[in-house]
Amino acid sequence: MTSNLKERLKLDRVINASGKMTILGGSRLERGVLDAMNEGASQFYVMSDLMEQSNQYLQDLLKVEAAWLISSASSGIAQSVAAAINQGNYKYVMNPYDETLVRNKVVIAKGHIVDYGTSIEVPIRMGGAKIVEAGYANGCTVAQMESAIDSETAAIIYVKSHHAVQKSMPKMEDVIALAKKYELPIIIDAAAEGDLNTYADMGADAVIYSGTKALEGPTSGVVIGSTTFISWLKAQGQGIGRVMKIGKENIFGLLEAITEYVNQSAVTLEQQEARLKPFNEAINELAVCHAKTVQDGAGRPILRSQIQFDESVDMDKLSQGMKAAPIRIYTRDYRINENIIEIDIRDVSEEELDIITNQIKENI
Ligand SMILES: *Cc1c(COP(=O)(O)O)cnc(C)c1O
Repeated sequence: MTSNLKERLKLDRVINASGKMTILGGSRLERGVLDAMNEGASQFYVMSDLMEQSNQYLQDLLKVEAAWLISSASSGIAQSVAAAINQGNYKYVMNPYDETLVRNKVVIAKGHIVDYGTSIEVPIRMGGAKIVEAGYANGCTVAQMESAIDSETAAIIYVKSHHAVQKSMPKMEDVIALAKKYELPIIIDAAAEGDLNTYADMGADAVIYSGTKALEGPTSGVVIGSTTFISWLKAQGQGIGRVMKIGKENIFGLLEAITEYVNQSAVTLEQQEARLKPFNEAINELAVCHAKTVQDGAGRPILRSQIQFDESVDMDKLSQGMKAAPIRIYTRDYRINENIIEIDIRDVSEEELDIITNQIKENI
């Protein structure tokens, strides 16, 4: 706290009760991660050695076949798509949009075309692919995915995310099996997930994670996958990867964040429930709403307070009132159209929980 930039830029205090949101800057970094970033930033390294040694470090730490650090999950999607199409061929690494590249389609379930701040179509197209949607908004079968594959297919993408349609979607293991049947690379967008082993163990060629979500690192990302695919991915560093490269300070920060992530014991559901209980009780003293604890809709081990408001409550006014200065409170508003808001307490202190209760009281 020496620079005082927050004051110089006149930025308001934010209470993040929404989760790991990119619009609020992702994660708050722990001291160990900040120290590692300091170490990374304040010296020079042979960058190719740093990248290779990082790969080796993650192989040993996570017991995975190969891993490669990237600047964000979005850049991981773009570079993985380019990798699947050009397979590291230098000529096409230099021109991923070459018109002679006809094997350039990626198949993805329609329910996986998500908007996470940008549409996932954007990084897929940046990688040089044409998108072939399989199935419908409300469902997709493996047979529908299979019928979307043809001789121009370069890869299949599967999105493991709370943003994606959860109902009537094909199982990841079945889509991986489909990709194997056609000898196609299978790329998993697991940006906000915290399980670093299962999907690669299931046979995915590339599993893409954001550094700043579950892993609580700086703006960065990591792709975990097969040795062959990661070697193709690496090749993109001389191509489109250059416009999205990760810096040395973020490499250090992410490696430390992943190290702390795998060594620390996760906050248990019981511990989360113990923090939520008094908060829910305080909310339930208000007449026009009811709070209860719910688990994350995509099945991650996260508990949140779900507050259902009566029809009489103006939800837009509530949401805007909460976000107004001087303390700007961001709640999880995906279901606000159903008069529901959720409170994600992972980055909220006890004092801040009281502020949230008071602000709800003021704005209903
Ligand atoms: C957040 C997110 C991304 C992008 O992650 P960044 O690291 O911010 O680029 C991609 N896909 C999904 C499903 C996400 O939730």
